[in-house]
Amino acid sequence: MSEGVARFTCPFCGAGFAVPKTFVYATCPYCGTTFRVDKPEAQVEHYLFSVNFDKNAAYKLVKDFTLLQVGVAEDFEHSTEFVSAYQYFVPLYIFEVSVKALCKGEKVEAGEEKVEIDVHGGEETAYVITPATHALPAGIPQGYSFPARGRRFFKPSVLKDGVYLQPSLDPEQVFSTVKEPYLRKAISEAQIACGSAYEVADSSKYIGLAHYPFWLTKYRYRGREYAAVVDASDGTVLYLEYPISTRKRAIGLAMGLATTLFAGLVGGAIATLLTKSFTPGLTGGAIASLPALVVSLQTFAKSKGVYRFKPSEEAIFAPVR
Ligand SMILES: [Zn+2]
Repeated sequence: MSEGVARFTCPFCGAGFAVPKTFVYATCPYCGTTFRVDKPEAQVEHYLFSVNFDKNAAYKLVKDFTLLQVGVAEDFEHSTEFVSAYQYFVPLYIFEVSVKALCKGEKVEAGEEKVEIDVHGGEETAYVITPATHALPAGIPQGYSFPARGRRFFKPSVLKDGVYLQPSLDPEQVFSTVKEPYLRKAISEAQIACGSAYEVADSSKYIGLAHYPFWLTKYRYRGREYAAVVDASDGTVLYLEYPISTRKRAIGLAMGLATTLFAGLVGGAIATLLTKSFTPGLTGGAIASLPALVVSLQTFAKSKGVYRFKPSEEAIFAPVR
């Protein structure tokens, strides 16, 4: 047995198998039980999100989405061919966050007796799904929302279908990072209601580990390769490279130059009013607008456009979950 591998006996079915020593979790290839490598006796719920878009459907999404991009090459639709599709499953941790900052009960006079009344504090609950590793073929945008529905229990029979990436982040560490903003919010609400007389109650739960499918798709356009990443469960295009039309590049370049010259002239005119000397103003204005020109040149001198999914655009672009 090689050095980086440890031998495990499945705590559920008793089968023996090898697990790389870097793994936080191991899944038995025979019965599908997942357990923490450092605590084999503690079984972990392991879920799998279903693949609702196969590689052909994912490639079609990539093509359709590319056609929506501003400045895409005119002959894109007819000069593009499929190259490859690589399916990978990203490990996720699922948490149910439930935190409270309760104001301590106050005693108030109610006739003869003192009655304890409940003063409201802050309460936060959330269902949080977050990547369990940073080592991904393509980044997942911060705040990307994974659907709460559509998961089922993990079965070893599906292992052949794609590349299963391993969780590498410490789940306890991730759990406390995930809870932190909710705790802070609950506490600040309690502080408004009752100052510093609050107690924190945390009944958050670690639900388990899940694997979530993505496609890394590649296509070719006029001899060059372009990559795209598609959420294989709900069809969101997360990342897309596409060819930019040569005509649009020329227009973009001209507009960039015109903007720079215009800003230069306006800058010059203002400077003239202030200093009655045109030349330094022109230079100053042109220099001030140089970053804009650089961005414009970079965008249009490149033949490759890039789209990156932003969670704020979700409502506009994402298919129905
Ligand atoms: Zn087993």
